[in-house]
Amino acid sequence: MNSDLKEFNSAAAFLIDMTKCTGCRGCQVACKQWNQLKGEKTRFFNGEGYQNPPSMSEYTFTRIKFRDYQKNGQNEFAFYKEMCMHCNEPACASVCPVGAFKKTKEGPVVYDAKRCIGCRFCMVACPFGVPKYEWSKAFPLVRKCTGCYSRIREGLKPACATACPSAITYGPRAEMLKEAERRIAARPERYLKKIYGKEEAGGTSVIYLTALPFDELGFKQVTKRSLPSYTWQALRLVPGIFLTVGGSLSLLSWFTHRKERLKKEEEQRQASSHKAKEENQ
Ligand code: SF4
Ligand code: SF4
Ligand code: SF4
Repeated sequence: MNSDLKEFNSAAAFLIDMTKCTGCRGCQVACKQWNQLKGEKTRFFNGEGYQNPPSMSEYTFTRIKFRDYQKNGQNEFAFYKEMCMHCNEPACASVCPVGAFKKTKEGPVVYDAKRCIGCRFCMVACPFGVPKYEWSKAFPLVRKCTGCYSRIREGLKPACATACPSAITYGPRAEMLKEAERRIAARPERYLKKIYGKEEAGGTSVIYLTALPFDELGFKQVTKRSLPSYTWQALRLVPGIFLTVGGSLSLLSWFTHRKERLKKEEEQRQASSHKAKEENQ
């Protein structure tokens, strides 16, 4: 095993066993609560199925997709928990010109809003369609699942893993892979004989077990090769106009963010000096 692979496997990972998911959506709620994400308007049946909201967004970092099917003449539901895959070699990080995305040694791929210039290359590069842009805001940022980095640094599990009563296990990636293999071997009639995320996009920190074929549940079919090696080759094919417009927007966004940041820093400085004065009186 090369040293990179060792590092990825010792980082933490989610083992999400979709055969044990009840579709309770406790994970969705816990994610919203922990990340203080506002609710979105939903409809009981939105045309695509029973899942709600209709897609992941800047306010929804994870979502349970529903798939109904027939088994032995009975109606059954299968589920798929969508979220950032926290790729071992993230394409989002490889294309970001200012290093706003970073794969941490603990496992999560984190995003630093202070660095982001709003070019949105990460959105084009991610093979799983995860990063979302705050289109409705005057000073937009890219948003996605954080892997609950702040929690795991405090020794806690991610909020969704803590809330889940049955389907999510969280621990070192090598152990999660072993556990997934053990479950498949112990109950071959229950599981599809494949672990999604073991090799997809070069391996990810979110791995899945399912009963139904992945494409039937809405999992993306991605290459096994890690994407950073050719993400820029793909982006080079994007028309020049995109890059020109992207470049101008980036510059504009960088200046806007900078102005906003300086304003916030100044406000914080004033607030703390005011507090210090009050304490000294
Ligand atoms: S799933 Fe997309 S956003 Fe998440 S780490 Fe991988 S490339 Fe980045
Ligand atoms: S890891 Fe944290 S941010 Fe990501 S889906 Fe789970 S609760 Fe949400
Ligand atoms: S909390 Fe667990 S069981 Fe409930 S929907 Fe989420 S993954 Fe499924």
